[in-house]
Amino acid sequence: MGDDGVATAFGLIIVGAGPAGMAAAIAAAGRGIDTLLLDEQDQAGGQYYRALPTGLNGSPRRDPHHHAGDALRARLSAGPAKVALQRKVWHIRLDAAPGGPATFTLQTLGANGNEIWTARALIIASGTTERVIPFAGWTTPGVMGLASASILLKAHQMLPGRRTVVAGSGPLLALVAAGIIAGGGTVAAVVDLAGTTDWLRALPGLATRPALLRQGMSWLLRLKRAGVPIFTRHTVVNAGGRDGVESVDIQPVDARRRIQGQTAPRTLSADSLVIGHGLTPAGELLRASGVTFIPRPDAGGWVPDCDDYMRTSTPGLFAAGDCAGVAGAETALLRGRLAGLAASALLAGLPDDQLAALTATTRRELRQAARFSGASAALMAMPAGLADSVAPEVVVCRCEGVTLAQIDSALDAGASELNQLKIWSGCAMGTCQGRFCAEMLEHRLRRRALAPQVAGPLRARPPARPLSVSALLGEDDGAPLILPEKRP
Ligand SMILES: Cc1cc2nc3c(=O)[nH]c(=O)nc-3n(C[C@H](O)[C@H](O)[C@H](O)COP(=O)(O)OP(=O)(O)OC[C@H]3O[C@@H](n4cnc5c(N)ncnc54)[C@H](O)[C@@H]3O)c2cc1C
Repeated sequence: MGDDGVATAFGLIIVGAGPAGMAAAIAAAGRGIDTLLLDEQDQAGGQYYRALPTGLNGSPRRDPHHHAGDALRARLSAGPAKVALQRKVWHIRLDAAPGGPATFTLQTLGANGNEIWTARALIIASGTTERVIPFAGWTTPGVMGLASASILLKAHQMLPGRRTVVAGSGPLLALVAAGIIAGGGTVAAVVDLAGTTDWLRALPGLATRPALLRQGMSWLLRLKRAGVPIFTRHTVVNAGGRDGVESVDIQPVDARRRIQGQTAPRTLSADSLVIGHGLTPAGELLRASGVTFIPRPDAGGWVPDCDDYMRTSTPGLFAAGDCAGVAGAETALLRGRLAGLAASALLAGLPDDQLAALTATTRRELRQAARFSGASAALMAMPAGLADSVAPEVVVCRCEGVTLAQIDSALDAGASELNQLKIWSGCAMGTCQGRFCAEMLEHRLRRRALAPQVAGPLRARPPARPLSVSALLGEDDGAPLILPEKRP
């Protein structure tokens, strides 16, 4: 944004510099589109290709992800796309002139204060949010998300604790446990919600990517060599300790992931617990932009309804990567390239038959990747039986301290729709705006409502990221603030 407070205009803006956003920027800018890539992090890479922080002391461990990420970052910076980092996108507005092209206006907050950007096409590549089904003691210091622990290990080269229980579901379990051992830590146990039969069912799909399957096997081998006990079809029921984790109780689950309460819990000694039950698409910016969502439990939950070219129901607005359905980094890269090509075709006025030819290879590669991503996403699906086992006194909404019993009281009082349940219970009203608790709220509504139909995901309101009024106003630079429109 210039000194006069006027918005900076681009042909295409991409939000999120993970594999999807980087691939989209490289593809679109490579076809001559004036492209801006925005991200709130200080380096491009997203979760999978997260870069090591600059100025890290010693000789940090670099894994293949770091090398692949560096190669992608080098391609991005060698190309013509403009990259603006440390910018939180907190508001998006769409102005569609009748019969004319749409304009997207984005507001970001970052190192340069509040900035305004406009574009004729927009790609949202905002990634995923980690899912944790609440349990007793999950807010105790020393408990952290499985995906968050992967950031700690990968980017900061830090261990989550001295003796860690690694629990939850999906391929991140073995990745994180093996990373802890490689970093010199101790894994007290791996507690997997899935059983051997679930893994065997996923095997044919996982075997379609032999290199990734081999990588997974090498993590398991490292756990075996270190003598780590692995409890399959088990879950954590309590993290004990006053000022930090001191013990972790686990119990078996059945095939539907319901806790087998008749079996006495087993107590493991640990000073930290790393736990995650899969990933859900981070759709808040897309929800705020009014696109149509559809339920896809096999892809993490609510996903934007996209066509074969990642076009959403809003003309000019595309979704790419895991925010369009959790499918992993390889698919994210391909979806990003597809969205970048499709956005460039839109801006260049190419007809659909030329778009089909331009994207034929990428769409074929996406179909080939689908079996692997489907199999790993199935291992991370919402464990409904576990969600049913949450005790009434357990806090579901950490921001506002709302328990399951308080959600049930709002249901007893007659709340019958998701947004109403949010307002009546206070769950999802805090700084995370439901990113971590809305799924549990929705699950409870489905279980209790007379008509177990939920019309759509929670309505999203700006700001899309928590921000303080003082940070927003900063020093008065005269820039106009675009206030959100009133919504019913
Ligand atoms: C915490 C976490 C850790 C993970 N670690 C691993 C791992 O170690 N290995 C693995 O295989 N998979 C991991 N995953 C899964 C992984 O995210 C994906 O499969 C892959 O990175 C998806 O790529 P993407 O480009 O769609 O999104 P991401 O890589 O998630 O990139 C999305 C980007 O969007 C940016 N963004 C989002 N919202 C905004 C906003 N409002 N303003 C500005 N920027 C925004 C984020 O900062 C991020 O850089 C992890 C997921 C999470 C949530």
